Amino acid sequence: MRLAIYPGSFDPITNGHLDIIRRAQRLFDRLIVAVMANPSKHPLFTLEERRRLVERSLQERNIHEVEVIARDCLLIGLARELGAAAIIRGLRITSDFENEFQTALTNRDLDSSIESVYLMTNRDYSFISSSIVKEVKRYGAEVSRFVPQVVERALGEKFQKV
Ligand code: ADP
Repeated sequence: MRLAIYPGSFDPITNGHLDIIRRAQRLFDRLIVAVMANPSKHPLFTLEERRRLVERSLQERNIHEVEVIARDCLLIGLARELGAAAIIRGLRITSDFENEFQTALTNRDLDSSIESVYLMTNRDYSFISSSIVKEVKRYGAEVSRFVPQVVERALGEKFQKV
């Protein structure tokens, strides 16, 4: 049973993330999406809100058999605890590479039995990021092409409050 973990801030989940989830699911027997606290990124949504949005987006898109967890801990420790064979990450633009390269080498140093696996973005979603989606929605523009409906609604509610 090959288990992979797909970690991220998911603040909020986008169509780009969902594409990676679908593709990772084809490669592994079991996939766990791990919503990580990442307090240094000052997320818009709380950890629990982000976890719920991932779950509801998976339901909306009929993606089944993916577990969703939320954690505030070191990723490699979590991957080891779950017995994951691989950590899945997505690569978009070249600037993603530098950070990911450093993280992958650090994680390998900490536990060489867990492989980091990088999936290249889908051309249609290559420009989509949680940050861009938040910026666009904050100023009242449509983001329905970039995120599931539940996420668009949650963003609308969030920005009405602030
Ligand atoms: P983090 O703060 O850990 O980078 P993100 O939620 O921003 O969390 O991203 C999680 C993972 O999903 C990262 O590996 C990122 O590169 C990938 N990702 C995000 N958006 C896309 C996209 N549009 N296409 C492919 N991969 C993506």
